[in-house]
Amino acid sequence: MADVTLDDGIVGRGNKDGANLFRLWFEGLTRAAEEGRQGAYVFVMGSMCELLRVFDLPLVFPEINSLQTAVRRVAHEYLNEAEDYGYSPDICGYVKADVATQLRAGSLPMGRIPKPAVAVYTNACNTYIKWAEIWERMHGCPTFVLDVPGTRAAGAQTWPGDPDFENDRRYVAAQIRELIPVLEEATGIKFDVDRLREAMKHANVMNAGWKRVLELNRSRPSLFNALTDGTIYLGVSNGFRGSEAGAKYFSELVEEMEYKSARGIGTLTDERYRLIFVGVPCYPIFRRFNELFTELGGTFVNSTYLWFASGGSNVGFQYDLEDPLASLAEGVLISVRDAMDSMFFQTQVLVDMIETHGADGVVYHPIKSCRTVSTGLADNRRALMEARDVPSLFLESDMMDRRVVSEAQLKNRIDAFFEGLAARRHQAAIGR
Ligand code: SF4
Repeated sequence: MADVTLDDGIVGRGNKDGANLFRLWFEGLTRAAEEGRQGAYVFVMGSMCELLRVFDLPLVFPEINSLQTAVRRVAHEYLNEAEDYGYSPDICGYVKADVATQLRAGSLPMGRIPKPAVAVYTNACNTYIKWAEIWERMHGCPTFVLDVPGTRAAGAQTWPGDPDFENDRRYVAAQIRELIPVLEEATGIKFDVDRLREAMKHANVMNAGWKRVLELNRSRPSLFNALTDGTIYLGVSNGFRGSEAGAKYFSELVEEMEYKSARGIGTLTDERYRLIFVGVPCYPIFRRFNELFTELGGTFVNSTYLWFASGGSNVGFQYDLEDPLASLAEGVLISVRDAMDSMFFQTQVLVDMIETHGADGVVYHPIKSCRTVSTGLADNRRALMEARDVPSLFLESDMMDRRVVSEAQLKNRIDAFFEGLAARRHQAAIGR
């Protein structure tokens, strides 16, 4: 790599280019909606984008659309509309924001989304299955659930060569073979294995890049904030999966992080505490939530979110382009299973992250309207405390609903947590 200077604009490029790609993506979706074309509705945990790109379907990620309504501070309008329509305040806020979006003919603050030609999703979250049934009822579109076998118990994953793994792989491969004619029928486009190869080649670059970017944040000081910057990278990793633009973005992002690492350029000028985040971000006060930590010298060096919400791209799986369909089945099995593990069996993941990223504390963020991620977090926290002597904070709020987000309460708890971190460091320094 040629040496570059700050004047080359390399620092901060990932954030800037990520925002640009997002704008282009939504312009494309709006165009498709206005021209009456239809898209594929998919989810972040097992989007099957590599295969869907073969069929020229604009990709719609309703989870990302919904969280954007919260970041742009209009989620309450969408939630109220869905609740007036009959949905309970307790269910996943992403679902309700999407229901209101459908009632508004796809209208969102960022643009407009096309109607679905098909919905493709996995069992990684049980809500996915009920959510897609809403589109089936509203639009009459075909839906396809890809059942990915999860890990049966913590640490019980099996790997290629093991008979259990091979059975699971055959099971996923058979479902992918069933999905192809569904997509052919929905689009009128014939499956083309070379186009699949092309998308998988780009996904390989992105997977390797995402793994490397996460590893590079072991640097001291840390190079990016996993909660804020990381969410931008994550959005590109999902929305542009299997595309040339996504591959270019991740190659350049690795270059940016290596550049910063080599020069000691951190995300904070005075990094005092390195933290790990568990759960889904607090999107209604996205920037402010993070500032409550950074103002006290804390930064998030990694998170379980960057693992599960990337659909397991963090494992860096590399497809074998010689045998694309079999390799797609293996990659989906390993990656989606890892995404589920980082929600359901996260104790060892966190112990490892604390080691590799030199973390001083762990922040748990259970949220009212995502039970999949939040159920069991209190037990997970206790298990982590038994496995590791590490300070932790438990903050309850929501990822969509500002009615249950109290900044004053959060600040009180966070300030007290930092006092504890400081006291612990002081006691360590004086040898107690
Ligand atoms: S319940 Fe949680 S994991 Fe499932 S769709 Fe909603 S936010 Fe996503």
